[in-house]
Amino acid sequence: MDIQNIVIFGSTGSIGKNVLEVVRLNAERFRVIALCANTQIDRLFDQCMEFRPLYAVVGDTGRAAFLEDRLRAVSCPTRVKWGGDALIRMAVLPEADSVIAAIVGSAGLPSTFAAAKAGKKLLLANKETLVMGGEIFMRTVRENRATLLPLDSEHNAIFQSLPHDYSGEPVRHGVESLLLTGSGGPFRASTRAEMRDATPEQACAHPNWSMGKKISVDSATLMNKGLEMIEAHWLFGVPVDRIEVVIHPQSIIHSLVRYTDGSALAELGNPDMRTPIAQALAYPERIVSGVGALDLFRLPSLCFEPPDFGRFPCLPLAYEAMRLGKSVPVALNIANELAVQAFLGRKIGFCEIPEIVESTMERMPPVVLDSMEDILLAAEEARRFAVDVIDEKMKSYS
Ligand code: NAD
Ligand code: MG
Repeated sequence: MDIQNIVIFGSTGSIGKNVLEVVRLNAERFRVIALCANTQIDRLFDQCMEFRPLYAVVGDTGRAAFLEDRLRAVSCPTRVKWGGDALIRMAVLPEADSVIAAIVGSAGLPSTFAAAKAGKKLLLANKETLVMGGEIFMRTVRENRATLLPLDSEHNAIFQSLPHDYSGEPVRHGVESLLLTGSGGPFRASTRAEMRDATPEQACAHPNWSMGKKISVDSATLMNKGLEMIEAHWLFGVPVDRIEVVIHPQSIIHSLVRYTDGSALAELGNPDMRTPIAQALAYPERIVSGVGALDLFRLPSLCFEPPDFGRFPCLPLAYEAMRLGKSVPVALNIANELAVQAFLGRKIGFCEIPEIVESTMERMPPVVLDSMEDILLAAEEARRFAVDVIDEKMKSYS
């Protein structure tokens, strides 16, 4: 068995920590050669001490110097780099076999693209890259013969439920539709009035999954399902009108593929990200993940309901962004990212998140995107529009 050299983007985050847990259980298979994070230096220091990577990357020069001093003081040989260029260099390291893209938000786009261009085995958690530039990104993956494996639990479940030789053409493989399951988040049963007063703490208290703050808020608004619908479209080539969202509060069925003969295939398990991470890390083999077996006798009854587009306007906005195409999904994603940040900073209310997304989508003139540079320019433009919209909202928020 060959040892896989892995680079982890976002090693200090929720996905990153879960990746390292799976690596720890399978130490004979994986060597961590680079750990990349932004600001959490203490955690990154501990990770460097344990995994002894060749490189560690942080967000800025001050933090790099601080980490470097601490590592030298204990004779840890890890070399410390900082900033966006260093992230790109890590994505294309010749000795890297697998790259884990687990930076949160649009900040993850350049390094994710770089790994695809370098033809790496790419384990993708950063769904925002696919939302903003799915078509261009998938072309980059194909042209450079990169291997793309989804870490998002729903997409990993769909990947496992599709034929092994699936080519991205649903009709050829008898794929009728995809059913994307979601727990419904902490406000599944809340009224609009209750949601208006929701605090960041309430929004981040996800019933089944423990995740980073941004995706937790996305799960509470259901924007996460909207982003995942777009992600599924690009990953699997299924038209958006054949991707259905199903609310399944127990999070045991992680998504389904419906076939023309009436079969519906699914992946089931306890809701724990270490399962899709282990599946993708070892693919096509299987390794232990640390997740316990699914005990059918102890399961609660499984329930399913349609999503409520009225109480959760982010979901129809995501379908609308896909219908309009061009740079509109970039506007959706950037406006959402900034609105979530403003909500977490208590500058706007929970129900203003979809309003900000909608206004930004309306105000920004759509442009055709043809390259990664086009996506980054559109993202800058979207940022300007979204900042204006948020400023207006903040003036009216008390
Ligand atoms: P998180 O907030 O817990 O961690 C984010 C990581 O990104 C941190 O390590 C942080 O240092 C790094 N980061 C942030 N900005 C950066 C920058 N500018 N440069 C370099 N590094 C930066 O987030 P998370 O919950 O782990 O989510 C990461 C990604 O995975 C997101 O795209 C999310 O949608 C996706 N995802 C997460 C889960 C989950 O269970 N947490 C599930 C499915 C998909
Ligand atoms: Mg998911």
